[in-house]
Amino acid sequence: MHIKESSDIAEHCIVYSMSDGKDTDYRKKCGHRHDIICENCHVLVSTLADIQTKATTANFPTVDDRDEVAYMVNSSTLAIESWQCHIIRCVNQDQARIDVLELLAVIWYWKGQKSRASEPLKRLAFEKNTFI
Ligand SMILES: [Zn+2]
Ligand SMILES: [Zn+2]
Repeated sequence: MHIKESSDIAEHCIVYSMSDGKDTDYRKKCGHRHDIICENCHVLVSTLADIQTKATTANFPTVDDRDEVAYMVNSSTLAIESWQCHIIRCVNQDQARIDVLELLAVIWYWKGQKSRASEPLKRLAFEKNTFI
């Protein structure tokens, strides 16, 4: 999957994918449209729907067999959808880790600059103390 923080493909857009469709407190609007379709994501959704349709319309020897197949198809579909959500969360968390590390690197750099800049002042203060 080509997941990004911002994508014109709904399934690839982290902001859209992680937003709650029902609860506005957990929803963030994208500044773009999701008007591009990913062929791979589309094929997965249509394949799962096809399997669901075949499983419900096929002839089974018993009602128990049909229920068992329906259960297997539903649980497998949920597992695949959960796996997709897991991947999106992993990518989002990895990006958060990278953002924190970059922020720490910037802080470390500026603290280094500050201590280097004040080094002459420290030396001057030390020299004044030693000569007084
Ligand atoms: Zn989006
Ligand atoms: Zn896709």
